[in-house]
Amino acid sequence: MHSPHPSPLVNDIHSALNATRVAAIHQPRSLTEILAIIADAAQRGLPVAICGGRHAMGSQQFASDAVLLDMRHMRRVLAFDAAAGLVEAEAGIEWPELIDYLEAAPTPEGGQRWSIRQKQTGADRLSLGGCLSANIHGRGLQMRPFIDDVEAFTLVDAHGRVQTCSRTSNPELFSLAIGGYGLFGVIASVTLRLAPRRTMRRDVMLLELDELMPAFEARIAAGYAFGDFQFAIDPDSADFMQRGVFSCYVPVGDTIAPDAAAKELSEQDWRDLLLLAHTDKTRAFECYARHYLATNGQHYRSDRLQQSTYLDGYHGEIDRALGHCGSEVIGELYVPRERLAGFMRAAAADFRQHGVDLIYGTVRLIERDTESFLPWAREDYACVIFNLHTPHTADGIEATHRAFRRLIDLAIAREGSFYLTYARAANAAQVKACYPRFADFLDAKRRYDPHERFQSNWYRHYAALFANAPAELAA
Ligand SMILES: Cc1cc2nc3c(=O)[nH]c(=O)nc-3n(C[C@H](O)[C@H](O)[C@H](O)COP(=O)(O)OP(=O)(O)OC[C@H]3O[C@@H](n4cnc5c(N)ncnc54)[C@H](O)[C@@H]3O)c2cc1C
Repeated sequence: MHSPHPSPLVNDIHSALNATRVAAIHQPRSLTEILAIIADAAQRGLPVAICGGRHAMGSQQFASDAVLLDMRHMRRVLAFDAAAGLVEAEAGIEWPELIDYLEAAPTPEGGQRWSIRQKQTGADRLSLGGCLSANIHGRGLQMRPFIDDVEAFTLVDAHGRVQTCSRTSNPELFSLAIGGYGLFGVIASVTLRLAPRRTMRRDVMLLELDELMPAFEARIAAGYAFGDFQFAIDPDSADFMQRGVFSCYVPVGDTIAPDAAAKELSEQDWRDLLLLAHTDKTRAFECYARHYLATNGQHYRSDRLQQSTYLDGYHGEIDRALGHCGSEVIGELYVPRERLAGFMRAAAADFRQHGVDLIYGTVRLIERDTESFLPWAREDYACVIFNLHTPHTADGIEATHRAFRRLIDLAIAREGSFYLTYARAANAAQVKACYPRFADFLDAKRRYDPHERFQSNWYRHYAALFANAPAELAA
């Protein structure tokens, strides 16, 4: 166990809006060390928060004055079953190490080469524990959230017991801890279901919003596995949220190698694009679309195509150019697929009316999650992700939260929903509408963790909102 630093200040990576002073940070390297930290916190009556890559933006990974368990030193692969396509790894491992491990793993002559099924887009340094806890998703065209990829995990619970959780062993805890935001215990290791690694071709075209759903359906019928629609961001243009870059990936046979000299954006290209998205949105979209169209027909491995460049601290450079301090805050909204176009038009009108500063946006698909206790994918939805520029002032932050509350209302009006892992903008009525079992989730948390050992600022916020909410919300 590492010796704790005294009262350090921690923050999330992307929005940097969750500065939190914690009691101490521990970085366990083994299950035994986790057990010792939990026992020590219990003896001292201290709550425990758990973090991995620190990318969540609602402060699910931090709690003021709590012990912070930073899992990133638990990053070993523990077992790889090449016959069954399963890998077990410690929960602090991040995607690059896991993908590299699987790429390098010895494969018998003619044997199957395995890799991950799905990961997030937009960032790679995200931990398996964080993925389970937010029940993440990628840009699969016919995939369910991450719970579908999890075979089992081990968890240290609030009583300091090591629990093995799977669909047959502790099934309730399995369904609660996946999508449980770190509130049910410390996930120590995860056994993931893998997929055969494939070579895929990227096919890119520009598309109008009204063409999108039929285009997704056609791609699925033609065997495409991944895809998304990255839409125009300039409110002064008629293309705003109406036109986008539609990129999909189709398996082409594994004798084809990925392109060694594939066109890619360099780190500097990304920096330039991010700055342009703040200062000249039409040019940003043009550059982005030009780059993507130039990659039409390139071949990638099914795992590598899901990786992306994320530049930690990229906003510092933009702050200097804009002359104020800010960052982007992400939100993700879900709507039934046939209602996507109406939702996007209403959102575009809202952004224009309120001067919302959209930096990046994309549409993906998700299939219904039938397994987790608190599912965000309650139906087969279209997912719309918005990255909003947010000045770091009280007004700037509140304006972004108001924008997300309006978007959530637009989604609810269309029988849609929103993702809990980004920001704490949603009010209790919105949480209740989109997560009808939220009060049961809080009850289950207290049943498994009666002393509320595992906490976060996100949990404290919503537990208080539901405690003070009118009875019909809390019920
Ligand atoms: C730029 C960006 C792009 C993103 N793209 C996507 C996307 O495409 N799809 C998507 O679904 N999400 C996406 N996200 C959200 C992200 O996947 C989640 O916030 C995820 O939980 C972050 O993982 P992390 O390792 O950074 O975890 P942290 O932020 O450190 O923690 C997140 C949650 O996991 C819990 N946790 C972490 N490790 C453990 C553990 N070992 N045991 C128990 N609990 C644990 C924490 O307590 C917390 O509740 C994105 C976020 C950013 C900033």
